Amino acid sequence: MEMTFQPILEKSNNNPIVIAGPCSAESEEQVLSTAKELAKDDRVDLFRAGIWKPRTRPNSFEGVGVIGLKWLKRVKEETGLKTTTEVAKRDHVFEALKYNVDVLWLGARTTVNPFSVQEVADALEGVDIPVIIKNPINPDLKLWIGAIERIYKAGIKRIAVIHRGFSHHGQTKYRNVPRWEIPIELKRLYPDLPIICDNSHICGRRDILQQVAQKALDLNFDGMMTEVHPDPDNAWSDAKQQIVPKVFSDMLTELVLRKESFDDPMFVNKLEHLRHEIDEIDDELINILSQRMKISEAIGEYKKENNIAILQTNRWSEILERSVAKGKAQNLSEDFMNVIWMAIHQESINHQVRIMNAKSEEKIK
Ligand code: PEP
Ligand code: MN
Repeated sequence: MEMTFQPILEKSNNNPIVIAGPCSAESEEQVLSTAKELAKDDRVDLFRAGIWKPRTRPNSFEGVGVIGLKWLKRVKEETGLKTTTEVAKRDHVFEALKYNVDVLWLGARTTVNPFSVQEVADALEGVDIPVIIKNPINPDLKLWIGAIERIYKAGIKRIAVIHRGFSHHGQTKYRNVPRWEIPIELKRLYPDLPIICDNSHICGRRDILQQVAQKALDLNFDGMMTEVHPDPDNAWSDAKQQIVPKVFSDMLTELVLRKESFDDPMFVNKLEHLRHEIDEIDDELINILSQRMKISEAIGEYKKENNIAILQTNRWSEILERSVAKGKAQNLSEDFMNVIWMAIHQESINHQVRIMNAKSEEKIK
C-alpha cells in the first residue's frame, strides 16, 4: 500500500525526537515531578507515561487508568511539554482524546493483534492526531506494516514507529533483541516514516542504554523513547530499566548526533545489511566447523577401536594440498589457507585425542 507520512511533531531543528517519562503513571506527584525535571531540558519533546499497562501476568500493576489522564493534562498546563500515552482499546482512545493527550502510541502487545489494531484504528476514524506504532513482540515486519496500514487507512497521516526490540528464546544481554535489520528494512520501504528507538525496552537494564541509543543514531534513527522515573528502583513497573532525569539528560549530552561518515542513510542501511550477512555467514562457518570436529571425533573412535595412530602424515599432507589448491582457485591466498587449515587440523587432533583419552579412562574404570 502506498503511504506518505507527515511529521508527528513540528520541530525547529534537525535534532532527534526525544520522548521521555516513566513507564507508568503512578501518582500525581510522581508524574508532575518527573515532568518538571524533564521540562528543564529543552531537548525533550514529548512526555510519556503509561496509564493502561498491558502486563504479562495478572495481579501486576495494570495502570492507574483514567485518573492519570488528569495528571497528564496538568503536565501540559504546568510544563508546556506535550504528552503521549499508550492506547489499546476503543475506550482508551476516546478517554485520551477527551483529555487532549497530544500523541497516542500502540504498544508491542497491541501491534501483534490485528483485531486490537483495527479497533483502535476505527476509534481514530476522522480524528487528526499523531500516532506512534511500536513493533510487534515477534520479529514480523509484515505484522508491523499491517498495523501502520490500518492506522493510515483510518486517515492518520502523522505516523511514526518505535523500535523496541523483539522477544527471543535463550539468553542475550537484551530484554528484547534489537534485530536492527528489521527496522532498517522498514526504513528502506518507507523512507519518510520516522523511526524512534525505545532503548529502555530493548535493554531492560540501565548500563547499556547509552550504547543502544548511540547505535540507533548511528543508523540514522529519527529519535528515541526512554523511560525516566524519579525513583527507578521503586518504580511500579520496569524498575530495572528506568533512569532518573539527570542521568537521562547526561545520556543525551553524551550522544554523538551524526558521525561524519554515517551521514547518508542509504550508506548506513547498506552497511548494516552487509554486516548482517557477514554475521550469518560467520554463524554458518561456526556450525560447519563444529560438524567437522564431530566427524573427527567419530574418526578418532574408529581409529581407537582399530588401534591406529591419530596422526597419519600422508592424509594430512593430502588435505592441506587439496585445500590450498581449492582456496587459491577461489581467490584465497596460500598463506591464509595454510594458517586456517593448520588451525583446523590442530583442533581436529585435539578432539580426537580427547575422545581417545575418554575411551581409555572408561577402560581403566
Ligand atoms: C511501555 O512502553 O511501557 C510498554 C509497555 O512497552 P512495549 O509495548 O514496548 O512492551
Ligand atoms: Mn515499560
